[in-house]
Amino acid sequence: MGTILEINNLIISFDGFRALNGVTTKVEKGEIRFFIGPNGAGKTTLLDAICGRIRPQQGSIIFDGDKNIMHYPEHKLVNIGIGRKFQVPSVFTSLSVYENMEVSVVNDRSIMASLFQPITKAQKEKIDDILDLVDLKDYCDKKAADLSHGQKQWLEIAMLLVQDLQLILLDEPVAGMGRKETIKTGELLKSIAHHCTVIVVEHDMEFVRDYASKVTVMHEGRILDEGSVSQVQNNPKVIDVYLGR
Ligand code: ADP
Repeated sequence: MGTILEINNLIISFDGFRALNGVTTKVEKGEIRFFIGPNGAGKTTLLDAICGRIRPQQGSIIFDGDKNIMHYPEHKLVNIGIGRKFQVPSVFTSLSVYENMEVSVVNDRSIMASLFQPITKAQKEKIDDILDLVDLKDYCDKKAADLSHGQKQWLEIAMLLVQDLQLILLDEPVAGMGRKETIKTGELLKSIAHHCTVIVVEHDMEFVRDYASKVTVMHEGRILDEGSVSQVQNNPKVIDVYLGR
């Protein structure tokens, strides 16, 4: 399949404090990669660096083989195929589910652009397929504000999928969900991973166990361990970090 993301010796400091202290990892195409670790480990900072929100002081972030994206601005990353979803859903609450998708399919998420640029038949078909995938086809006309918490999360994932991204970054996608919604989200990630790579920052360890292809454990700005769930969960250093020893 090949590598979609290669992060080399990434260093990010805030006022002299190293939030990332030499992070190196590779993510292969089609993976569902989970980043775990205690609060303050550097997981969010790493996502922020990948999606262009924070500029690292050192290192490199290579996307899809040859593009060093480390100094790309956030908006340019969407155009090359990287999208981020934050923990709190950021859908357009006053628009319907379908209108949210229309705004997203024109790619720059600008309402003005979607008004002046009617969607094509192919885009409409894509929206229909993705709404079907996230189980929101019966809610097309419903205002996003009136969806359940889980449905808002799925709509936001759908809004990323419709942009034909190659890499999706998700920040605690199952936070606040019940077990049924969590399982539905996990199954959705599995379907997405057939055509797109998914990176997830997550605290729900049951979710990680059930859906990770690979796990990266972070601690104090470094990678403590990386591998399958069964590998990392038996590492004494990982156990110590989680038990706070
Ligand atoms: P995690 O997501 O694993 O909980 P973060 O990436 O949010 O960890 O934070 C890593 C460390 O960097 C923490 O000690 C945090 O306080 C610090 N940090 C994160 N962002 C900033 C910032 N903008 N300014 C100063 N310190 C920050």
